[in-house]
Amino acid sequence: MSTPKILILGAGYGGLLTTLQLQKKLNYNEAEVTLVNKHNYHYITTWLHEPAAGTASADHARVDLDRIIDKDKINFVKGTVLSIQPEEQTVTLESGEVLSYDYLVIGLGSEPETFGIEGLKEHAFSIRSINAVRNIREHIQYMFSKYKQEPDRQDYVTFVVGGAGFTGIEFCGELGDRLPELCEEYDVDPSQVKVYCIEAAPSALPGFDPELVNYAMEVLEKKGIEFKIATPIKQCTPDGVFLANGEEIKSKTVVWAAGVRGNSIVEKAGFEVMRGRVKVDEYLRAPGYENVFVVGDCALIFNVEGRPYPPTAQIAVQEGETLGENLVALVRGDLTHKFTPHLQGTLASLGKGEGIGQVGSKKLFGSTAAMMKKASDLRYLYKIGGVGLALKKVKL
Ligand code: FAD
Ligand code: NAD
Repeated sequence: MSTPKILILGAGYGGLLTTLQLQKKLNYNEAEVTLVNKHNYHYITTWLHEPAAGTASADHARVDLDRIIDKDKINFVKGTVLSIQPEEQTVTLESGEVLSYDYLVIGLGSEPETFGIEGLKEHAFSIRSINAVRNIREHIQYMFSKYKQEPDRQDYVTFVVGGAGFTGIEFCGELGDRLPELCEEYDVDPSQVKVYCIEAAPSALPGFDPELVNYAMEVLEKKGIEFKIATPIKQCTPDGVFLANGEEIKSKTVVWAAGVRGNSIVEKAGFEVMRGRVKVDEYLRAPGYENVFVVGDCALIFNVEGRPYPPTAQIAVQEGETLGENLVALVRGDLTHKFTPHLQGTLASLGKGEGIGQVGSKKLFGSTAAMMKKASDLRYLYKIGGVGLALKKVKL
C-alpha cells in the first residue's frame, strides 16, 4: 500500500496541535504529512487583543513555524487555501497548486460574524490576525495624531467596541491601559477621549457568573470604558454606528467583537454547517466523509445536554491532540478514540495585572486571575515549543 497522505489546513491551535502529535508519534515514512498555512508563523490568537490596543507588539504574538515544525517529518506549504473539493479529495490553493489527500484536517479558524448588519464588513475592524491587529493599532495612533490637527473632530478620539463578550471585554481592558499613554504621547486631554463598549444582550459577558461580570465592568469603568448594555448595534457607517435605540455614535474607529462563525471556505466546500461550523461526530469527522476531520472554530460539538460548546482555543488544542493520535491509529490500523472535551475553566484578562476567571466552582478576581492566565499561557507555549519558547514569550 502507498504511504497515506495527511493534509492539514491551518496552523492555528487545532491544526498545529494535530501536526505536532503526528510529528511526535509517527515514524519516518509511515505517512506523508503536509501542513498548509497562510503565513510561516503560528499566531497566539488568545493574545491578539494586546497588539490590537498597542499594549504589546504584534511580533510577541507570533511564533515562527520553523521553530516548532520538524521539516524532515512535515512538509510545510506557505499558501492560502482557496477551496476544498471533498469528492475529489483535493484542495486548491490561491497559487493554483492542487494538493491531494487521503486524510484531510480542516483547521482554518473563524471569521467575524456580522449577522448581516449593514456596513460592518466595509467599515469595522476586527481582531482576527496579526495583520488585522497591526492595522487597528496603527489606525488608533493615526486618529490621535489627526485629532491634534483638527481638535473639533471628537469622532477621531471616540472608539466603539461592538460586543461585550470575552473578546470585547479583553480588548477594552487593554485599550483602557493604552489610552492614557497615547494621551501623553500625543498631548491630548484624556477627558476628550471616549470608549463605548456596546452590548446587545441584557448583560455583558452573557451567561457568565454575575459577580465576575460586575467585577469586570467595574474594573473597565474605572479605566474610562462606558458600557451601553441591551443596546444592539444596527448599522455601521464610515462615520460611526447607529444603535437600536436610535442613537448615533460618531466614531472613526469601530472594532467589531460581537462573535465569530467558521471559515467560509468550509461552507463553500458543500459541508453542512451551522454558523459556518461543521457538526462533527465523536471522532471529529465531517458527516458523510470518513476521511475529513474538522477541528477548532470550524467544528461544532455539543455537550450532553445538547448545547453547543463555544469556540475556544482550549477545545481546539484538545481536539488537535486527540485527532493527531487518532490519525496515527488510522495509519497503523489501530483503534481510534472518541473526543470528549475536558473543560479546565475560563480565564480572561482585563488589562495589566487584572482579570477574572472561573475554575470549577472557584471564582478568581484581579491579580490571581491574571496570574492563572499567564500560567495557562505558559503551559501552552511549553506544549508547542518547549521551555525555550515559554521563556522567550511569557511576560511576567
Ligand atoms: P485559529 O487559531 O484562528 O487558526 C486558524 C489558522 O488558519 C491561522 O493560522 C490562519 O492563518 C489559518 N488560515 C485561515 N484561513 C486560511 C486559508 N484560507 N489558507 C491558509 N491558512 C488559513 N480561547 C480560549 O480558550 N481562551 C482564551 O483566553 C481566548 N482568548 C481569545 C482572545 C481573543 C482576542 C480572541 C479573538 C479569541 C480568543 N479565544 C480564546 C478563542 C480562540 O482564539 C479560538 O477559539 C482559537 O484560536 C481557534 O483555533 P483554530 O485552530 O480553530 O483557529
Ligand atoms: P461572543 O459570541 O462570545 O460574544 C459576542 C458578544 O457580542 C455577545 O455578548 C453578543 O450578545 C454581542 N453582540 C452580538 N450582536 C451584537 C450587536 N448587534 N450589537 C452589540 N452587541 C452584539 O464572541 P467573542 O467575544 O468574539 O468570543 C468568540 C469565542 O472566543 C467565544 O467562544 C469566547 O468564549 C472565546 N474567547 C474566549 C476568551 C477567554 O476565554 N479569555 C477570550 C476571547 C474569546
